[in-house]
Amino acid sequence: MAILNVRQLGDEILKKKCKPVRLITGRIRQIIDDMYDTMYDAGGVGLAAPQVGILKRIVVIDVTPAPDPETGEEPEPMRYTMINPEILETSGEQRGYEGCLSYVGMSGIVTRPDHVKVRFTDENNDTYELEGEGLLARAICHECDHLEGIMYTERVEGEVITNEQLDEILKKEAEENGGNEE
Ligand SMILES: [Zn+2]
Repeated sequence: MAILNVRQLGDEILKKKCKPVRLITGRIRQIIDDMYDTMYDAGGVGLAAPQVGILKRIVVIDVTPAPDPETGEEPEPMRYTMINPEILETSGEQRGYEGCLSYVGMSGIVTRPDHVKVRFTDENNDTYELEGEGLLARAICHECDHLEGIMYTERVEGEVITNEQLDEILKKEAEENGGNEE
């Protein structure tokens, strides 16, 4: 297990385009393991290789929902290792707050497709086509942007705010909607 240093906004490596993985070697599998360790340690739902200083087209995503609060039932895992991911189709639109492990403690509004179809290879060299919606679609778009050297801050609508400011906004929204819950 190794937790890698996550590069932060302003680091030149985050602006570079990544190269495809041609052969899935032990070294590539090690990078993937370390990327998961690093992502979970930081509490993220996605991480791209350039964020840990590796200019290869590798993404890890885990958007598994929390267990059911009443039954404790574990949902189906939604954990994906994507090597050389390629977005084939997008549709719909979702507008919401987004953050990044390369810009810790900050969030901003980004509009993304609500539905994404992606093709990728996993660490066992199997190729998949996956359709994702909601948070998964957002994570796929965000992480694939990293492989092109694009940070979400380039796509933000309005200001980037701190997570404390975001908490305030969400609290206010919850209070305003509180009357409709009957
Ligand atoms: Zn990111």
